[in-house]
Amino acid sequence: METIGIAGSGFAGAVLARELAESKKYKVIIFEQRDHIAGNCHTERDAKTGVMIHKYGPHIFNTSREDVWNYVNRYGTFMPFMNRVKAVTAKGMFSLPINLMTINQFFGKAMNPEEAKGFIAQIGDSSITTPDSFEDQALKFLGKDLYQNFFYGYTRKQWGVEPRELPASILQRLPIRFNYDDNYFTSTFQGIPRDGYTAIVEKILDHPAISVQLGEPFVPEYKKEFKHVFYSGPMDAYFQYRLGRMNYRSLVFERFDGKGDMQGNAVINYCDQEVPYTRISEHKHFAPWETHEESVSFREYSKLAEEGDTPYYPMRMDKDKALLSQYMELANKEDNLSFIGRLGTYRYLDMHVVIGESLDLAKACLSEDHMSWPKFSGKPM
Ligand code: UDP
Repeated sequence: METIGIAGSGFAGAVLARELAESKKYKVIIFEQRDHIAGNCHTERDAKTGVMIHKYGPHIFNTSREDVWNYVNRYGTFMPFMNRVKAVTAKGMFSLPINLMTINQFFGKAMNPEEAKGFIAQIGDSSITTPDSFEDQALKFLGKDLYQNFFYGYTRKQWGVEPRELPASILQRLPIRFNYDDNYFTSTFQGIPRDGYTAIVEKILDHPAISVQLGEPFVPEYKKEFKHVFYSGPMDAYFQYRLGRMNYRSLVFERFDGKGDMQGNAVINYCDQEVPYTRISEHKHFAPWETHEESVSFREYSKLAEEGDTPYYPMRMDKDKALLSQYMELANKEDNLSFIGRLGTYRYLDMHVVIGESLDLAKACLSEDHMSWPKFSGKPM
């Protein structure tokens, strides 16, 4: 039996490992540099309060791919959870994503869906024909007031650059609705694992042909030991940043504890630029099926990822993409190596997309000759 090496035990690596192991053709060794599995989805029960903590920030599972939903449900019980975010703005507290309630309350009106559509079309900037930037996308489809109150400050804090320098795709993650649906996500399936994400990943990895080496970073010299390596760390890190660093945003979480209900909701966003954090998450609300007297909240601050910081969000600015294409050239020259997941392919991907890509990649690898195994789990550019 041939052996495959995988760097990283997040969903990208874990799902791929399981699918390859299930085929009975391969043994898999996973190298995990942290002392825990599950990557940035890692959850752990807080010793003090008993609350399940999403250690690297809130993760709400949602997908419209039925195979992905069925897949994760094979490895754990998902409880119903609807993400209903509230946003604090200079004009008060509103429901997010922008929906009919937000629009009516923000403008002090009582419009029906058709009226609201007409109203928003009228305040949107119709002179913008092809909105390429975050700012143009917002001005065209929401107008100046909503953009400034809900998006400008938050985005400036989250990304550290002017929204006109960011791609429109970031704003396109959020819907705008002309009804009273205040669910943050539009996916068909949604939920949070009853016992946390780490328990799910643990089950995925629980297979006789998979072994996990915790606390051991993968180094390129290991590659020769394996038929093939799938690397889910940052692409530039694999090449020791020899061409420079692609920019990421990192997060800092500031914990504060309380009793009872601290903020009445799982997530509250702070859209003003003057407030230094972007959002506060109260983690017991991510498990409404549990009861806890005590509570834990985290203020979330965004910063540029520097050496030693955990990378979270790929920035994908023009200079980053120029570097990315050079790193992709290096990657293409490497034998027996593929890059997978959010960091490996330098894309702003959600959990469900990563899982879907690993399922697809495993299928491709199991049906194709090794010479034609994909270099990337999805197109980085
Ligand atoms: N965003 C914003 N205001 C908000 C929420 C989101 O301006 O109150 C923008 C911001 O640029 C953010 C992007 O929309 O990066 C995508 O938001 P999402 O909630 O999808 O981000 P995530 O939960 O992945 O951090």
